[in-house]
Amino acid sequence: MGNLPPQHIDTDLINKELLRLLPKVDDCLLILHDNERLEAIPHRSLKNSVQSFIDSFRQKILQGASIQPQDLKSEKLFPRMISYILEKEKVRFRRVINCTGVIIHTNLGRSILPAQTMDALYDAGGRYSNLEFDLTTGQRGSRYSLVEEQLCELTGAEAGLVVNNNAAAVLIVLETLAKGREVIVSRGQLVEIGGSFRIPDVMRRSGASLVEVGATNRTHLHDYQAALSEETGLLLRVHCSNYRIIGFTKEVSNEELVGLGKEHDIPVMEDLGSGCLVDLSRFGLMKEPTVQEVIASGVDVVTFSGDKLLGGPQAGVIVGRRHIIDKIKKNPLNRALRIDKFTLSGLESILRLYRDEKTAFATIPTLVMISTPVNVVDKRAKRLLRLLRRDLKGYAIFSVIDTISRVGGGAMPEQNLPSRAVAVKPCHVGVSSLERSLRGQDIPVIGRIENDRLLFDLRTVADDEVPLLHKALLRNFS
Ligand SMILES: *Cc1c(COP(=O)(O)O)cnc(C)c1O
Repeated sequence: MGNLPPQHIDTDLINKELLRLLPKVDDCLLILHDNERLEAIPHRSLKNSVQSFIDSFRQKILQGASIQPQDLKSEKLFPRMISYILEKEKVRFRRVINCTGVIIHTNLGRSILPAQTMDALYDAGGRYSNLEFDLTTGQRGSRYSLVEEQLCELTGAEAGLVVNNNAAAVLIVLETLAKGREVIVSRGQLVEIGGSFRIPDVMRRSGASLVEVGATNRTHLHDYQAALSEETGLLLRVHCSNYRIIGFTKEVSNEELVGLGKEHDIPVMEDLGSGCLVDLSRFGLMKEPTVQEVIASGVDVVTFSGDKLLGGPQAGVIVGRRHIIDKIKKNPLNRALRIDKFTLSGLESILRLYRDEKTAFATIPTLVMISTPVNVVDKRAKRLLRLLRRDLKGYAIFSVIDTISRVGGGAMPEQNLPSRAVAVKPCHVGVSSLERSLRGQDIPVIGRIENDRLLFDLRTVADDEVPLLHKALLRNFS
């Protein structure tokens, strides 16, 4: 603190002096030229990194950050510059270890795929394939036909189609069935899903106009009846997957709505959002309608995500009546929203696993994590605890605590899964600095801070990640 300028000295002058001390990019490049750790970096990338490092220093000086002239000496500046450059060289899109306990974590890539599916993706990407080639006739084929049969078999629908994500699925169904017409939706279902996907906005984009009926908490069949007109193109239900209206409530059942649609020859659509093919209520979760139940109730077209509860790749699945799906297939928008070969191969592989429910629960990570009994999570947590207590005595206080995992991804909002976490209370550094440092590792570790401790929920950590977690903490503390 002895170097602080006396009050009467113009800080502008000091800043000018500091700015003058900043090295020139070309001079830096000359000095870094022989550094072995930077050898493999292309010149232009290296130059850009050096430039942005110096720029960030300049910014700090101009903003009056407490920088001393000796901070700008080579011995101090260059090691920092080199770490900065190496940090920038890291691949940006990286694997992380999810210790948040949120299974379908939108920020961490939603669902992760089983090993079998990864093999399928490897082939799909690295080899030629029959993506649009019919192996029986030797003629051009359709990419959609590769998963349609599976979708129909699993959901009981007459036909199916897959687009880029569920938002796209909703858009194309509305555009196909209700462009220039009216769509009736209950006020209780005008939802917003993360990333500002709002049903009313999507509806506007599709060229359909929204007719809201009922009140936020209660909508009756007669509300729909009263809103019907010559202009009605579709009756839409949106599944409340990320919120719940409780208390004095009423929603019209699928059966009632289907009956009304039939009576007036108007199709009924349900946007299921999560779209589950298995009943998860036996794990203490709330009963969500499965896709096959919705189809069986007579709904004409159903949309759902590929990477939420289904546990597959990002995709938007549309299943329903053949004449409707055929119409959607012919919509030119379909070309713009079409899935690539990775999605297709990943989705086919996932759907095959669903043919046997036991297999699905044993292999699809999203289902595995939801269904893992808490005593298994507890064992995993204690395994990590033993390693940490053995190797890091004195650095932090470790314990295993009860915690709550969540399904996440806008699925099953208030649903709690009992879980266990390893809690770390560092002795010599703050908990947020520990959190930051683990986030900065080669395989970043993402936990959550609670009551001055960093928690690692072991429900979302695979068994083979426990040693990595252990290593990450070792590297951090010692
Ligand atoms: C998640 C969700 C969507 C959007 O699905 P994406 O696959 O993220 O595009 C649309 N509707 C509902 C009800 C959802 O829950």
